Amino acid sequence: MNEQALLRYSRQLLLSNFDVNGQLSLSNKRAVIVGAGGLGNIAATYLVGAGVGSLVLIDDDCVDLSNLPRQVLYSEADIDQPKVLAAQAQLQVRNPSVEIIPIQARLNAENVSQYLADADVILDCCDNFDTRRLVHRWAQQHQCPLVSGAAIRWEGQLVTFRYDQTLSPCYECLYPDLSDQQLSCNVNGIIGPVVGTIGVQQALVALKLLSGTGQVKHGVLQLFDGLGGDWRSMRLSQDPDCPNCRVEKS
Ligand SMILES: [Zn+2]
Repeated sequence: MNEQALLRYSRQLLLSNFDVNGQLSLSNKRAVIVGAGGLGNIAATYLVGAGVGSLVLIDDDCVDLSNLPRQVLYSEADIDQPKVLAAQAQLQVRNPSVEIIPIQARLNAENVSQYLADADVILDCCDNFDTRRLVHRWAQQHQCPLVSGAAIRWEGQLVTFRYDQTLSPCYECLYPDLSDQQLSCNVNGIIGPVVGTIGVQQALVALKLLSGTGQVKHGVLQLFDGLGGDWRSMRLSQDPDCPNCRVEKS
């Protein structure tokens, strides 16, 4: 680690259970963020700030005026520009030493392996059922830990799946019929700080996984009620009838 890096990361290096070992581990790891909306913006900001080795950012969307209240990497000048390019520009200024790989595409069965390969952790920051299912199934098949976030209206949810460990429940154990989860911020509304709260938590979990620091709560659904200000937790277990997990075991 050079002198600049020692200075830049000095405050986190002071943490006894992070220190140089955590930093070096982090700097050799790749995080993949699927979705460059509100969750992805916040998570990317902290991962890049902390010095993750490389960050892949995947989204096919362009910046819209209605994104600006919660998608904090974008400004009016970015409207109609691809989100991943606008995000890359902002993130690269914050920390030039991080390799940032923007992918302006929608994940599908053909490209998912190409774009998620080499991920040490995946952050599910997307907003639609098809992509979420695709990413979770890929992560489960390739034993890649996945930190999943979602936010709608005043509510947020966070759950980490240790697909790198046996007997981890999968997303479809939690939501057997994902088609019911087609909630959209466009129709249902969302408030910025709720998205930010979940995105920050995703970044924290990813940092701990990548640096090998601390405990990661996994297989636990954490629900945040932004209106009341409360968190609730529910432990998940593998559903013996989950078709996804059953396929894995056979
Ligand atoms: Zn399952």
